[in-house]
Amino acid sequence: VTEQAANIGVVGLAVMGSNLARNLASREGNTVAVFNRTYAKTDELVTEHPEAGFVPTSSYEEFAAALQKPRTAIIMVKAGAGTDAVIDELLRVFEPGDIIVDGGNALFTDTIRREKAVRETGVNFVGMGVSGGEEGALLGPSLMPGGPDESWATLGPILKSIAAVAEGEPCVTHVGHDGAGHFVKMVHNGIEYADMQLIAEAYDLIRRGTGKSPAEIADVFAEWNRGELESYLIEITAEVLRQVDAATGEPLVDVIVDQAGAKGTGGWTVQTAIDLGVPVSGIAEAVFARSLSSHPEQREVSGELPGWHDADAVPPVRDADAFIENVRLALFASKIVAYSQGFDEIRAGAAHYGWDIDLGAVSKIWRGGCIIRAQFLNRIADAYDAEPGLPVLLTAPYFVEALGRAQAAWRRTVVYAATAGIPAPAFSSSLAYYDGLRAERLPAALIQGQRDFFGAHTYKRIDKPGTFHTLWSGDR
Ligand code: NAP
Repeated sequence: VTEQAANIGVVGLAVMGSNLARNLASREGNTVAVFNRTYAKTDELVTEHPEAGFVPTSSYEEFAAALQKPRTAIIMVKAGAGTDAVIDELLRVFEPGDIIVDGGNALFTDTIRREKAVRETGVNFVGMGVSGGEEGALLGPSLMPGGPDESWATLGPILKSIAAVAEGEPCVTHVGHDGAGHFVKMVHNGIEYADMQLIAEAYDLIRRGTGKSPAEIADVFAEWNRGELESYLIEITAEVLRQVDAATGEPLVDVIVDQAGAKGTGGWTVQTAIDLGVPVSGIAEAVFARSLSSHPEQREVSGELPGWHDADAVPPVRDADAFIENVRLALFASKIVAYSQGFDEIRAGAAHYGWDIDLGAVSKIWRGGCIIRAQFLNRIADAYDAEPGLPVLLTAPYFVEALGRAQAAWRRTVVYAATAGIPAPAFSSSLAYYDGLRAERLPAALIQGQRDFFGAHTYKRIDKPGTFHTLWSGDR
C-alpha cells in the first residue's frame, strides 16, 4: 500500500459497500481505499474491478495509513453491533479531525449516541442514510447525511459527486445535526412501506373486483405510471405483475408465498411516531399488514371464519373501468395521507431533537436514487417552499384540490372493500385519518370524560380556562 494514496475509504464490502466504493472510484479525482473484516471479499472486489483502482487494505492500521489526512471513511456494515465494532477499530487508528461516516441503516438514537461518544475523541462522526439499494449505491443513491456542519463542508462535494441527480440537482443535502440523517432515512422507509401496501391493496381490489389477470393489471399500472401516480414503485409493480414463472408458466406473483418480510425500519418509524405522539396510521397499517401476512399458523385456523356473502363470493363490479379509476384515485388520496403523515413525523422529530430540517429539501433529495422516487415529491417541495411552517402537508393547495377530486372515489373504494370483504387496511385507515383531521368535534371529549370518571384525570372545558374534575355518581 502506498501511504496516503486514497482520499476516501470504505469499510464493509458486502453489496452496499462494494457498490458505493465502485461509485466513488468512478468519479474524477477519487482514489478509494477499501477494507473488509474478511479479506477474501476485499480481494474479490479488487480483482473483479481493476478499473476502479482501489487501494486494498488488510488491517485497520493499513487502512488508516492509506488515507490522506484528514481521513474520511464510510462504514457500510451490518447495522448495530457491527457498526460499533468498526467504529471502535477506526478510533484506534484515526486522529482528531478525521471523519467517520456511518452509511448503514442505523437507528437514529444509536447515531446520536455514537456521535456524542466519537466527538469526545476529536474525530467527527456523521450518520448518513443511504437509499436506493444495490443499484442506487452503484449508480447514484439518495444520501441523507446528518452530523456537524464542519464535516458537511468536507463531505458535501464528494457526496454530491456520487449521489443520484434529479432535475439537475444532486440528491443529497445536509439534513441536520447528529441523528437527523438516519431519522429521515427511517421515515423514508416507513413511507416506502405505506406506498407499497397501498399499491398492493389497489392490485388486490382490482384483481378480485374485476377478475382481471396480473398481466392485464400490469397494463393498468403502466397506464397509471403515465399520470400523477408516476413513480418507481408503480413502474416496477407493472413489471412484477407481468412476470411469468418459467417453471410453471403461471404469473410469478401467484407462485410467490404471500408472506411479506421486513427488516425493521418500518417498525422503527411507527415506534418513534408513537413516542413523539404523531399519528402515522397509514405506515402503521402497512407494517401490521406485513405482520398479519407472516403468521401462517393464524391464517390457517382463520380461513373458515364467516364471510358476509354466500360462499364468500365477492360481488363483481359492474363497470370495471369506472372501478379501476376509483381505485386509482383512492390510491392517490391515501398516498397523500401517508406522505403527509411521514413529513409530520419528520417535523415533530426535528422539533423534539432540535434539528433544523428543511422539509422541502428532504422531499427533493428523494426524487432520485431512492425507492420512493416520484414526480409527486415535487409537489411536496412546492408546498414547503410556499409555506415552510406548514403544520399539515395535506392542507397545501395542490393536495386539497387532489383530495377533493379523489374523495368520492376514495369513499366508494373503501365501501366496496368493506362490502366485498377485501382487506384494504391502509386505504381505510387513511380515509379515517382524513376524516379525523376534518372533524369539527371528535369523540375525544367522551374519552376525556371516561378518563376523568375512572381515574380523575381531569378535563378542560370549551367555555373557560382551567382544569376540571366532576364528582361522578360512580365516585365513592
Ligand atoms: P450487510 O449484510 O448488512 O452486512 C455485511 C457486512 O457487514 C460485511 O461486510 C461484513 O463483514 C460486515 N460486518 C458485519 N459485522 C461486522 C463486524 N462486527 N465487524 C466488521 N464488519 C462487520 O451488508 P449490506 O446489505 O451491504 O448493507 C450494509 C449496510 O447498508 C447495512 O447497515 C444495511 O442496513 C444498509 N443498507 C442496505 C441497503 C440494501 O438495499 N441492502 C440499502 C440501504 C442501506 P464480513 O464480510 O467480514 O462478514
